[in-house]
Amino acid sequence: MALLPVYEALDRILNSINPLNAELISLHDALGRVTVEDVTSNLTQPPFDASAMDGYAIKYKDASKTLDIVGISQAGKAYPDTIKSGQAVRIFTGAPMVSGADTVVIQENVLRDGDKLTINNCKTRGSNIRAAGGDFKEGQCLVKKNITLDARHIALLAAGNVAEIDVYIRPKVALLATGDELLEVGSEIGPDKIVNSNIPLFKALIAEHGGVAINLGTAKDTEEDVKAKIALVKDVDMFVSIGGVSVGDYDIIQDVLKQSGLKVDFWKVAMQPGKPIVYGDFNGIPYFGMPGNPSSAYVCFANFMLPALNKMQNKAENGFQHSYAQLEHDIKEGGDRMNFMRAIYNENDKGEKFVSSNLSQSSSKLKTLADSNCLLVRDVNAPATKTGDLAKIILIKPGVFCS
Ligand code: AMP
Ligand code: MG
Repeated sequence: MALLPVYEALDRILNSINPLNAELISLHDALGRVTVEDVTSNLTQPPFDASAMDGYAIKYKDASKTLDIVGISQAGKAYPDTIKSGQAVRIFTGAPMVSGADTVVIQENVLRDGDKLTINNCKTRGSNIRAAGGDFKEGQCLVKKNITLDARHIALLAAGNVAEIDVYIRPKVALLATGDELLEVGSEIGPDKIVNSNIPLFKALIAEHGGVAINLGTAKDTEEDVKAKIALVKDVDMFVSIGGVSVGDYDIIQDVLKQSGLKVDFWKVAMQPGKPIVYGDFNGIPYFGMPGNPSSAYVCFANFMLPALNKMQNKAENGFQHSYAQLEHDIKEGGDRMNFMRAIYNENDKGEKFVSSNLSQSSSKLKTLADSNCLLVRDVNAPATKTGDLAKIILIKPGVFCS
């Protein structure tokens, strides 16, 4: 099978993914969830005219008189009467405006002597009042549909008294590692063994991007063991296995899965790292067969699995953001696979971005993956590039600047 271009592989994946259903959840659980509909406010905010400052509520036309202070309006407890000409009411920030008053004078601009008030400075009628509905009105759209809710949205919806909200269901992703060499983190690591780092990697990636990981554990590289594990793939929206998709004698996962219903859409993509990725349909569930080298698996996540998770949740964004940065070194011409190099970008105080991919690019290395904050993208057969040329980068850790 010829190597499939990355963009075509992504198209084929996205064409096969459908958004999941919605569920009604508490606003308290809504962080990172995606709205199904425009969400409207259940009340007007502020619900009443309120003072924006600590001071005195007066009639503006009385500003030059000495006034009688007749009461208090505090936050949560209004002054109950209507003031007459010559009267003022002590008022605090957030307190309901006083009936009959049209202006708040800040306390720094008055002189108070017992219950008598003299105003030194009050230039504008209506000053220091927050008008009812000045923030938003009942029935107004607060958050549009397909928005991934962050802390600000949640505060806004709380202020609008929206206690429950329709969001897309979180994709449930079954995760299976394969390899006789793997032991779980915290085990005593005997001869010839390594720690399984891909399951923790993918559990964290799935959680970071709105999904729920269901860890099926690690299968040995035997048909029986892989079959026993894939029998556990039930009631999930995606199935991801890691390792065993290349051409070695122990890379059996594809063949065993085919016996259990896998229909392969494609195997092998023109990319480096990540070439041996498998994608298909496992009994109605989208299936990713990720390569075992951690950095290859990560690059496949960034390019393919993240857009699939996002589409399932109907997120407006496809995947990680792209940007451009000036190369800090020359790069020789590219080969026949698209290259995703671990790289570090930083921004100077003029906002100019610079990027260096002078890190080891061996796909087995995790340290350089964790040390990087972007992937530098080189197209198939990219020409040689020079220091200062613009390079495309995928921002896997936006907002982290190294200098
Ligand atoms: P494979 O794709 O199974 O041929 O594995 C490629 C490389 O990735 C081998 O060096 C494996 O030991 C390593 N590898 C596979 N799965 C994992 C995993 N879950 N955690 C860490 N390394 C892995
Ligand atoms: Mg293996």
